[in-house]
Amino acid sequence: MARRGLLLHWRGASDEHPVVLMAHQDVVPVVPEEWTGDPFSGDVRDGAVWGRGTLDDKGSLTVLLEAVESLLGEGFVPAHDVWLSLGDDEEVAGTSAGAAVARLRGLGVRPWLVLDEGGAVVTGAFPGVEAPVAVVGVTEKGILDVEISTSAAGGHASTPERGGATWRLARAITRLESRPFPPAMTGPVLEMVDGLGRHSSRSLRPLFAFAAPLAPVLARVFTRVSPETNAMVRTTVVATMLQGAPGANVVATSARANLNIRIAPGETVASVVQRLRRVVDDEEVELRVVASSEPSPVSPTDGPQFGLVRAAVAAAYPEALVTPYVMLGASDARHFTAIAEHVYRFSPFAMTREQRETLHGTDEHVTVDALGRGVVFYRALLRGLGAA
Ligand SMILES: [Zn+2]
Repeated sequence: MARRGLLLHWRGASDEHPVVLMAHQDVVPVVPEEWTGDPFSGDVRDGAVWGRGTLDDKGSLTVLLEAVESLLGEGFVPAHDVWLSLGDDEEVAGTSAGAAVARLRGLGVRPWLVLDEGGAVVTGAFPGVEAPVAVVGVTEKGILDVEISTSAAGGHASTPERGGATWRLARAITRLESRPFPPAMTGPVLEMVDGLGRHSSRSLRPLFAFAAPLAPVLARVFTRVSPETNAMVRTTVVATMLQGAPGANVVATSARANLNIRIAPGETVASVVQRLRRVVDDEEVELRVVASSEPSPVSPTDGPQFGLVRAAVAAAYPEALVTPYVMLGASDARHFTAIAEHVYRFSPFAMTREQRETLHGTDEHVTVDALGRGVVFYRALLRGLGAA
């Protein structure tokens, strides 16, 4: 059991259709020298709050609790039970969320709706669309770490033999790089293109209008537009850690690399590993699964649950379009797919591209305006429970 994870129960008028609202308390580390100010000061300047966690995820945590407290102060009783799951180890893929799921399962709670961090209100992320877009994650990619390794005779670096361990490992990595996973437009990506395409510029609209029949072509276009759109339509593989000989003048007797793989919806850990073996095509190279989680099931967008999220976005950001999307990173929400069918990932903040890059980076900040709208979002969501 995690040490500081919290699971709070707010009793509603009915214990049917319980709702779980999530935010995590922990943050990633900082390199203080790289920050303009003190990363833990919470300075308010230029209309924004600056500091580690302001976007990920203490901002959400704060506005969620502010919405709940303000409603409690008004004597408001939610139409349905509300659970607040506030993990303390999301950034290290810890045990807090899993423990909350186990506890809820033990209590026989089957959430009607789960909402965690994820998408945001973004601008300029979709070609030809000027309006801000609220992207709501309806699934998240799986994560897989595979160690690939090989060994060979070592020796002195002054008399190397051809085809040693480092060469063999490098060849395996090069093969993986030159034969990436085939792209495909999955359901949520098609739905996003179809929905936003109607609002895109006149020149692009006809392309998006035929998204379904053009899916194979669009998928290939997506692989070239940006690293994000590429990651949206395929399983990605990157070698993150490499290890060879222990000394500069030593021929390696073994070489290893870690492949960090993000699995697209529709594929599985097993199918991915199978393809890796096929592409590496070398019996001298061993593959070992270090850690894995399957992609999350896709939550529906045609029910009252998504409708409620949509309505809450409209209350806070009336000018924004709303679309489902495939979340590329991982969140605690994935644990909840074990007990809930409707799991969404959305942080109710407007974020510029520049701000999105400060997530896990330097000078992270959230605007004061976005914080206010975040409170409006959660209040509307909680008040809307009766109508949904
Ligand atoms: Zn986070």
